Amino acid sequence: MVRADNVHKSFGSLEVLKGIDLVVKQGEVSCVLGPSGSGKSTFLRCINHLEKINAGRIFVDGDLIGYRERGGKLHELKEREVAAQRRAIGMVFQRFNLFPHMTVLQNVMEAPCRVKRESKSEVRDRAVALLDRVGLGEKKDSYPAQLSGGQQQRVAIARALAMRPKLMLFDEPTSALDPELVGEVLDVMKDLARDGMTMIVVTHEIGFAREVGDSLIFMDGGVVVEQGPPREVIGNPQQERTKAFLSKVL
Ligand code: ATP
Ligand code: MG
Repeated sequence: MVRADNVHKSFGSLEVLKGIDLVVKQGEVSCVLGPSGSGKSTFLRCINHLEKINAGRIFVDGDLIGYRERGGKLHELKEREVAAQRRAIGMVFQRFNLFPHMTVLQNVMEAPCRVKRESKSEVRDRAVALLDRVGLGEKKDSYPAQLSGGQQQRVAIARALAMRPKLMLFDEPTSALDPELVGEVLDVMKDLARDGMTMIVVTHEIGFAREVGDSLIFMDGGVVVEQGPPREVIGNPQQERTKAFLSKVL
């Protein structure tokens, strides 16, 4: 479902990604771990072309993201084409960036209504079902400011799912939450994983990675230092940098 080949990304003279390779199969959950500044968010942003890459290729469901290849050369896609690719990729950030002036239901309906492929009532029915699924059916007419952080983050997940993505990207979705609210968000993500959603999750929640992850990637300094089944990487890290990092977060 996702393949990254030798992805490089620099900001000016700062090389942030130095050749990232990753394969995530359909229905798998890949967790990404690593110290601050190691390039985790940048890599996720490259997957939906919020950042342009300097070299390498990223494929999602067979589509080359952001570019068209012709005669061995890459040409950047038009904004409209990039937007179409992004629709297949849901993203949830650390900060639940909901629209404050819209109700919970309006937030979830906004993107699919904008695309206008379905009738408003179809979109609405799906949005209500998604809110039920994340346990917020009762809150559909509330405004984001009236919700807890964990509830807002669950709305953000429902909103991403409303576009029926093939892939979900999560960038530290629980790290801005009070500890007692983390579990309710992780539960929704576990439920999604059980339902077969392909997910890439940047998280420091080691328990989640061990329980739900099919693979764990440890990044440092813009490279993948180590990857493998979460239990193996966490329980028996091979690289010194992985060991040092895990000893701090475990
Ligand atoms: P954290 O755990 O703190 O979220 P991260 O692994 O997600 O860290 P990134 O946000 O990907 O790290 O940042 C990697 C490096 O790229 C950092 O040195 C950061 O300062 C730099 N960087 C990120 N975005 C930009 C940008 N738009 N312009 C310039 N430098 C950037
Ligand atoms: Mg980050």
